[in-house]
Amino acid sequence: MDTAPTRAAGLARLHAFLPAAGRLYAARRNHDDGPQPGGRGNVSELSPFLHAGLIGMDEVLAPVLAMHGLAAAEKFIAELFWRLYFKGYLEQRPAIWEDYCRGRDAALAAFGANSDLRRAYDAAVEGRTGIAAFDTWARELVETGYLHNHARMWFASIWIFTLRLDWRLGADFFLRHLIDGDAASNTLSWRWVAGLHTRGKHYLARAENIARYTAGREGGPLVAEGLAEDAAPLAEPQDYPRRPLDVPRAAVAADFSRPFALLLHDEAAHHAPLTLPAAPALVIGASRPAARAPGALGPKALGFAEGAMASGLAEAAAAYGCPAVVWHAGEPLAPLIEAAGVERLALAHLPTGWTRDALWPELAPLAATGRLIPLLGNIERATWPHAKAGFFAVAKAIPAILHGCGLDVGVGARGN
Ligand SMILES: Cc1cc2nc3c(=O)[nH]c(=O)nc-3n(C[C@H](O)[C@H](O)[C@H](O)COP(=O)(O)OP(=O)(O)OC[C@H]3O[C@@H](n4cnc5c(N)ncnc54)[C@H](O)[C@@H]3O)c2cc1C
Repeated sequence: MDTAPTRAAGLARLHAFLPAAGRLYAARRNHDDGPQPGGRGNVSELSPFLHAGLIGMDEVLAPVLAMHGLAAAEKFIAELFWRLYFKGYLEQRPAIWEDYCRGRDAALAAFGANSDLRRAYDAAVEGRTGIAAFDTWARELVETGYLHNHARMWFASIWIFTLRLDWRLGADFFLRHLIDGDAASNTLSWRWVAGLHTRGKHYLARAENIARYTAGREGGPLVAEGLAEDAAPLAEPQDYPRRPLDVPRAAVAADFSRPFALLLHDEAAHHAPLTLPAAPALVIGASRPAARAPGALGPKALGFAEGAMASGLAEAAAAYGCPAVVWHAGEPLAPLIEAAGVERLALAHLPTGWTRDALWPELAPLAATGRLIPLLGNIERATWPHAKAGFFAVAKAIPAILHGCGLDVGVGARGN
């Protein structure tokens, strides 16, 4: 697939996939046919562009609904809402992310005292476990920066229940290599597979299921021998009570009446989805991919994040006819703002995760003095309050959310 880290590549991918977002997606989405030069076709591969904010959720939903209508595109739209659900859920339980980071660091530190563990981990991430399917995906992830959703589920299940490795090490491996690596979708999906998200309900990979849904791969179905077939779900002592959702108020035109700077970050690297009502006097690029994980990022993940920021910054400066500066990690932000003579900083809301962890210490003083203009999309604003417990509440609210956001859910006529 074309993974140029640009908005143009994201829009091209969206338009190429649109006809398949209806019935074809519903019928074929679970098949992992392996990487294809022109794109997989049965899934959109839009996740890296959505994660980086090169395209917005409403920019995907609107043409899908226009072409297919909600009924025919229900499966695809539900998957987009899984992304929104996970974001909203983590936003209301940030301690899950904090505990993941602590647990990951402890698990990495344990390598020093346990060389068997280190060897087992190395074999897993280098694709040398002897479980052919798992080894194929481990190498595919490192080489391409992407895995099909079903492959991610099987991989995580084998990691946890057959190889008996710490789930947080697996989630960390994913974050170091996925070009769509996302704090909410990744952490909560690993927890879901483990039986920690929906307590007691885990996902066990089965060899027949893997063979069936990988039959279209070049070289034939993937083989997975020796899988643990009756392992118990993981359990943990702590509960994660929900805290009230703390989302910014909707920005109004008056917020932009005085000179302001636009801050682009790794989850909002392009200005277009933000639809600002006025032009900023300065664009600031703040990319912090190294904050994803303590270890080194894979070249695909790093390249996509850095490329998305470079293209987003250049395109914003050209669109607004204003200067662009890079705010490097470890440097103070204040001098950049002062030099440009701006009072306020507009930025897409920073959701729970490493981007927020990395940027917030410098942004907090601006927030405390009312100098931040946080922006949140209508779809996120309407969906997150439903992401209190299971996905069901979100699924039930989808038609009303779409309608409330001005998206027509009527029957589309074209596509398949
Ligand atoms: C263990 C595990 C880890 C994962 N880690 C990530 C991650 O770091 N980043 C990430 O974006 N997704 C993650 N996912 C979810 C999902 O696998 C990917 O979003 C999807 O495979 C991306 O491919 P696509 O764009 O072709 O998806 P499509 O099938 O075309 O779906 C369209 C969009 O819907 C969203 N979506 C689809 N499936 C899911 C899902 N199960 N959960 C949440 N959103 C979904 C994505 O934004 C995706 O781009 C993970 C899933 C598992 C099981």
